[in-house]
Amino acid sequence: MEDGFRGLGREKELLRTVLAAVFPDRCSGCGSEGPVMCDGCRAKISGRLAAVFVCPGCGRHTALLGRCGRRLCGKSPLDGAVYLGSYAEPALGTLLRRWKYEGGLAEGRALLGLCRAAWDSSPFWRGLAPLAVAVPVPLHPYRLALRGFNQAAVLARAFAEHFGTECEVGLLRRRFSLRRQAATPEADRRRLRAGSFAARLGQSVPPSCLLVDDVLTSGATLNDCAAALKTAGARQVYALAVLRGGPGLGR
Ligand SMILES: [Zn+2]
Ligand SMILES: [Zn+2]
Repeated sequence: MEDGFRGLGREKELLRTVLAAVFPDRCSGCGSEGPVMCDGCRAKISGRLAAVFVCPGCGRHTALLGRCGRRLCGKSPLDGAVYLGSYAEPALGTLLRRWKYEGGLAEGRALLGLCRAAWDSSPFWRGLAPLAVAVPVPLHPYRLALRGFNQAAVLARAFAEHFGTECEVGLLRRRFSLRRQAATPEADRRRLRAGSFAARLGQSVPPSCLLVDDVLTSGATLNDCAAALKTAGARQVYALAVLRGGPGLGR
């Protein structure tokens, strides 16, 4: 399929078609029956999306793409982070959840449509896109097999296609799942997570990368990915997330 939604099984799509006939779609914003995002809600929410910069070290807002001035934040392997909207915006959170956890293609397309509108709304994006190769945060193969698609890869491809720039979907890989570590104390988790991503052997790493993910929560995953890219030779790594915040449900 040309819109980037690859890998969703035919059975899953058929099931959704049947379900849609019985339970018609509702707008994720106002709940009215019809498309998953009505025109009124789309216009309202589009107006709230922007390029919001945060320091990848501490999560504070910054005026430009970069780190804040604190010494500790200078150690973050990410050189800057930017997101479009808030997960706490109910319509946005709903679109993402339904796409990611329920395989809702209409919701995924609606979210991508909002992203494209946001990317067109500020010259920042057109300036950033040719400077860095889009690299999605990888899903663990187990999750990828269950879900059928990696939402970060769909978003990274969409970004690169929108601006006619490059995307390297297979550049990073996960070394192991974090699932079983959910109960370990934070310090142990941090230690175990160190080195949980790596660049694939034999792949050349672009000097400038734009990591792409659907949500930015603590920033830990994006920082870990940035560390892996820098270890493999990247000089600058920035992060783009669609939404900030999240349900804490893992990837
Ligand atoms: Zn609506
Ligand atoms: Zn900071």
